[in-house]
Amino acid sequence: MSIRLPSPCLVLLIGPSGSGKTTWAEANFHDSQVVSSDELRSYVGIDQHDQAASQDAFELLDFIVEKRLARGMLTVVDTLGLNAEQRARHRELATAQGIPTYAVGFNTSAKLCRERNKERSRPVPARVLSAQIKQWGSTRDGLAEEGFAAVLDPEPVVVVPADQLDADARAAAQRSDPRRLAFGLQIPSFTWDGERAQLGEHLVEIGRAAESAGFSSIWVMDHFRQIPQVGPEWHDMLDSYTALGFLAGATTTVRLGVLVSGITYRNPSHLGKIVATLDVLSGGRASCGLGIGWFENEHTAYGWEFPPVADRYALLEDSLQMLPLLWGPGSPSFEGTVLNVPEAMCYPRPIQDPIPIMIGGSGEKKTLRLVAQYGDACNLFGDSATIAHKVEVLAAHCLEVGRDPAEIEITTLSTVLIAPDRRSLNAEVDRLGPSNATADAFAARVNAGTAEDHIGRFRNLTEAGVHTAIINMPDLSSTGPIITFAPVIEAFRQ
Ligand code: GDP
Ligand code: MG
Repeated sequence: MSIRLPSPCLVLLIGPSGSGKTTWAEANFHDSQVVSSDELRSYVGIDQHDQAASQDAFELLDFIVEKRLARGMLTVVDTLGLNAEQRARHRELATAQGIPTYAVGFNTSAKLCRERNKERSRPVPARVLSAQIKQWGSTRDGLAEEGFAAVLDPEPVVVVPADQLDADARAAAQRSDPRRLAFGLQIPSFTWDGERAQLGEHLVEIGRAAESAGFSSIWVMDHFRQIPQVGPEWHDMLDSYTALGFLAGATTTVRLGVLVSGITYRNPSHLGKIVATLDVLSGGRASCGLGIGWFENEHTAYGWEFPPVADRYALLEDSLQMLPLLWGPGSPSFEGTVLNVPEAMCYPRPIQDPIPIMIGGSGEKKTLRLVAQYGDACNLFGDSATIAHKVEVLAAHCLEVGRDPAEIEITTLSTVLIAPDRRSLNAEVDRLGPSNATADAFAARVNAGTAEDHIGRFRNLTEAGVHTAIINMPDLSSTGPIITFAPVIEAFRQ
């Protein structure tokens, strides 16, 4: 059995000399994650064995542990671990950062420790080792009471993002008592291998792969240059609705939407006309995603106005009232707070009556209220606890405006890095991770996991109230990750 440890965490190794601490740390962690008092002695003293430098080495150790934990870095402390005050101090440093501490006890027999010690080039004096062995004997049984997240045996370790710690059990719950969850694929980046001329071809490959993997919707962003959260601004970015129109012709079942259109980018009735056209040409597969927009630089660059947030909310609310009129029969006039449309007319009328509207954003006072009043779907960010809370807030708004919350589709957007097994997953994390983040931090940000880990994570999201999980994937240069994700979708189809 492997031990699952969450990242970040603090791991304290405890056992006498020769019990196998350093060997276990080397086998289960990167060198850069392990802080060893022996090694620190060599920085402040003559070498690793310079006992006179111990005091300074331990001061340095405390300093390093504190700084690493403050940065949220997984840290393994390789010392004898037999000093109770040091254990408590390190555990408190971790607790102060909200990081759990695990103790690993090395129950190697006294005989074996002594044999190994004798074989060392610089053995510990026999009486010193005896004292350590005795101290370990009196430490061992009290460890469980010291307040660690767990006291572990030195088994092989799998490090997972913190919210996947119980993914195995959650995945088992999904298999024994399945819940439904639909999946959407967001394509936020178009910077793939190959020439511009092949971009369209690859987009079609992705769309078709997503459809056959069981995704029920495909989403693109409404941006005109790449956003800083995803990549540099000169990375390739396609116009949203043109790309969706192209995908409409290459797919047959997936719904198509923009996650989400900033209401500032187009005249809202023109936007309604574009969405209606997509709906007609796709046979009724359009979703209309709307939000207030946020990317001011992009507006400035293109010469669009970027009004203050209250005005953007007013324009969004007007549009939410106007669009159903535009898509409906006749040519009614619409007069809103900031939007006037003398003839809200759109022929051909959309196939869906009306086209479902998704409102992006998690703002509790304004955005979720607009969802309750006008939305068919919302798109929430965050972990399952955050989403569960937002769903409650939305339900309270629904109660106030007399809306049945069950009518509103709860969607969430998150990133998925998936690989068929742990080894290839770690290789993908190393390959794709940026140079300014640790592998663990990147793995947590992209939810790196196997199919089983993802089933567990999405199970938690269904319990938080999510109906549709929209995911993006860090690298769609090949359709491999989409195909690898298919069993996750399958597990939620029941
Ligand atoms: P530490 O003093 O607790 O850090 O112990 P080390 O990890 O340095 O191990 C002491 C010696 O025992 C080294 O020569 C290791 O190669 C050996 N050793 C440690 N763990 C194992 C193990 O699991 N199996 C075997 N065969 N040797 C081990
Ligand atoms: Mg050691």
